[in-house]
Amino acid sequence: MIFSSALIETAVNEFARMPGIGKKTALRLVLHLLKQEPAQVQQFSEAIARMRQQIRFCKLCHNVSDEEICSICASHSRNKTLVCVVENIRDVMAIENTQQYNGVYHVLGGIISPIDGIGPDQLNIHSLVERVQQQEISEVIMALSPTIEGDTTIYYLSKKLQGVPGNPVKITTIARGIAFGGELEYADEMTLARSITNRLPLENYMQK
Ligand SMILES: [Zn+2]
Repeated sequence: MIFSSALIETAVNEFARMPGIGKKTALRLVLHLLKQEPAQVQQFSEAIARMRQQIRFCKLCHNVSDEEICSICASHSRNKTLVCVVENIRDVMAIENTQQYNGVYHVLGGIISPIDGIGPDQLNIHSLVERVQQQEISEVIMALSPTIEGDTTIYYLSKKLQGVPGNPVKITTIARGIAFGGELEYADEMTLARSITNRLPLENYMQK
């Protein structure tokens, strides 16, 4: 692609770095911005820069947050004894969209995958064990990918959590058969909502 303006070329290259955006789409977006008022484009770029600079991660659940504690953890209407373990923040958004879950979350930041060099130490596992140790948690729901890596992570976590002294926490898994764990947001909301409502004890899941 040949540009007569280095300014446009730079902007196109920046957009083209986004996932799913090729050079053609990038150019279309840049040309669209060119038609806008400068103040409008300023607002657009400031919103992105501010989001990246000011975003924080919740001290309790590692979800994205504007404050030290996210709005879900801070809410008085959420059931704090119920913790749903997910791979990433997209999964939190997908489950929130079902409007069927009233507990809180724990975002692992990935799943155990030796091939990708991701071991338990790279994930937010220690803080989960601490939560179960220190807070009144009655149930931990595993909502992870139905893959070998997801199962490995569930197995590892269940061993860790069942070993917490003095707190026999109930461990369940969400019903399978739908794509989730990174792709959770693509599962239709009814199916996802049902799989959370009809969650199974871990024993049942491991026997399958
Ligand atoms: Zn939180």
